[in-house]
Amino acid sequence: MLVYKMTKNRVEAGSEKRHETLPNIRRLNRQELGELMAALGEPSYRASQLHRWLYSNQALDFETMSTFGRKLRQRLASEWSIIPATLAGSESEFLDEGSTTPLSTAKFLIRLEDSELVESVLIPSEERMTACISSQVGCPLRCAFCATGQMGFRRNLLASEMTDQVFLLDSEAIKRHGRGLSNIVYMGMGEPLLNLDNVFESIRMLSEADYNFSISEKKITISTVGLPAEMERVARSGLKTKLAISLHSADQEVRERMMPVAIDVTLDRLANAISSYNAMTGQPVTLVYMLLEGINDSPDDARKLARFARRGLCKINLIDYNSIVTLKFKQCCDSSKNMFIQRLLDAGLLVTVRKSQGASINAACGQLATRPAR
Ligand code: SF4
Repeated sequence: MLVYKMTKNRVEAGSEKRHETLPNIRRLNRQELGELMAALGEPSYRASQLHRWLYSNQALDFETMSTFGRKLRQRLASEWSIIPATLAGSESEFLDEGSTTPLSTAKFLIRLEDSELVESVLIPSEERMTACISSQVGCPLRCAFCATGQMGFRRNLLASEMTDQVFLLDSEAIKRHGRGLSNIVYMGMGEPLLNLDNVFESIRMLSEADYNFSISEKKITISTVGLPAEMERVARSGLKTKLAISLHSADQEVRERMMPVAIDVTLDRLANAISSYNAMTGQPVTLVYMLLEGINDSPDDARKLARFARRGLCKINLIDYNSIVTLKFKQCCDSSKNMFIQRLLDAGLLVTVRKSQGASINAACGQLATRPAR
């Protein structure tokens, strides 16, 4: 059974009670805040002020909204509550019993308004401080190697539930490492492109130039299995975010076995979608490829990957598989991995190899699934 450790500064006494009786204003997107203010007979700039109070100042009480008159504050407080997502628990990678590394990856259990749980991961390094955040509770795509996929799909996250993960991890990063977030990846639980309106809204909130938390769109990566129509929407959005595509095999049959979505989105369709994305944005995509022993790590697999990558403007990011007890896959050995890397380099491709972080606390790629945190 989970025991939630609420952080005092984000949840006020009595908020649970208000939650039962009044709707949460953080469920409204920017446009709906505008409609709310219009319905209250307020000028349109009030909606921007309210948005700023909620997501820059992270106000938890309408009384603190000093740019509003008393009547408006009281009216809002009588009809709405303010309930952010909260930290329910955390785990860090351990070196020895009780001692964490200075740059330990940490996983956070986040409790949403309706008590659903998602996980977010803080990945510190010398150069970066990255938050990996979730976009859905569970995931409908059921990739064979992924713990989230085994949970099934429960619901999409609201934009504010994604930004709350960022705000919580930013303050944890400052507390633990003395510096805030430098990068954000939408790579936690769920497929972000299946919740694109809310993902767009959250990115716009996080990159508001003069909000207390503000990050450049260029420091944000959206990760997807590669859904062509939605990739086109990302390209058309005008956002300067990066796009990562979980490829994991450039063999149609193997990819279908690993990722059921590949039955519909064939490699040919995906290659065309990548080329269109390249053409529309002028940007490359990163192909994420998780090496699995005996499944996608042979010389022939490397050759197929190189051929696929050359069909568009692509970089390659190789990652290790992190074992999940209930699943049968295995990490590939160092010699296969080195051979694989060399073949890609020989083909003239830009390859990065990501050292797996967070595997010991099930915080690494493919391992996120909500379960009790210690
Ligand atoms: S890998 Fe991503 S898309 Fe596939 S099931 Fe897991 S969360 Fe969903």
